[in-house]
Amino acid sequence: TRTFSIIKPDATRRNLTGAVTKMLEEAGLRVVASKRIQMTREQAEGFYAVHKERPFFGELVDFMISGPVVVQVLEGEDAVKRNRDVMGATNPADADEGTIRKTYAESIEANSVHGSDSDENAKIEIEFFFNEDEIVGCSSRRTMTGLVAAMRRGLVVSRLRRSGRSAIDARDAPRCSIVRIRARSRPVRRGAVRSPARHRCG
Ligand code: ADP
Ligand code: MG
Repeated sequence: TRTFSIIKPDATRRNLTGAVTKMLEEAGLRVVASKRIQMTREQAEGFYAVHKERPFFGELVDFMISGPVVVQVLEGEDAVKRNRDVMGATNPADADEGTIRKTYAESIEANSVHGSDSDENAKIEIEFFFNEDEIVGCSSRRTMTGLVAAMRRGLVVSRLRRSGRSAIDARDAPRCSIVRIRARSRPVRRGAVRSPARHRCG
């Protein structure tokens, strides 16, 4: 399953993006999307809308826009719980040893990481920051499709060159199959086609 994570401004300020990410990875999570952004006030208010009645809402928004954050999509077995476990309690004073917040958080507010609290919210939060094509999980068909498409284009272009035509037409399409590429290619190319399809995570 997937969850959504933010490395908060207190952590990016102290150059802890890698250190925090390492703890996430060691907890069995995989970063399948990641980008460093400066949140706008509107984004932060929208993201934390569920907390708008809480007394710390204004300060929380100010803090979240006080510097860059790294938003991430994490994948793993039981990702929401796994992430919450490695994050530790909201208040670092209450967090268990070995958790991210115990190790790095500065205060209950500047607590280094955000993590979704349910599958339902994970989906909402992921969609708040990412398009589906920015998330590349383990057995992404897109990788395969993109690579094959690129190779097909290459084949079509070379066929055009040989035949002296200048435009691709329907005659080209059925002949540019993956089977044909594999049959015609040198081993190194064959490997390049096959490996994404066989790619396994872990
Ligand atoms: P969590 O991030 O552990 O899910 P909450 O959803 O309750 O915690 O709160 C969201 C964020 O608001 C916290 O991560 C923290 O940055 C901030 N926050 C929570 N409680 C307080 C508080 N009492 N004072 C200041 N900031 C707080
Ligand atoms: Mg929360």
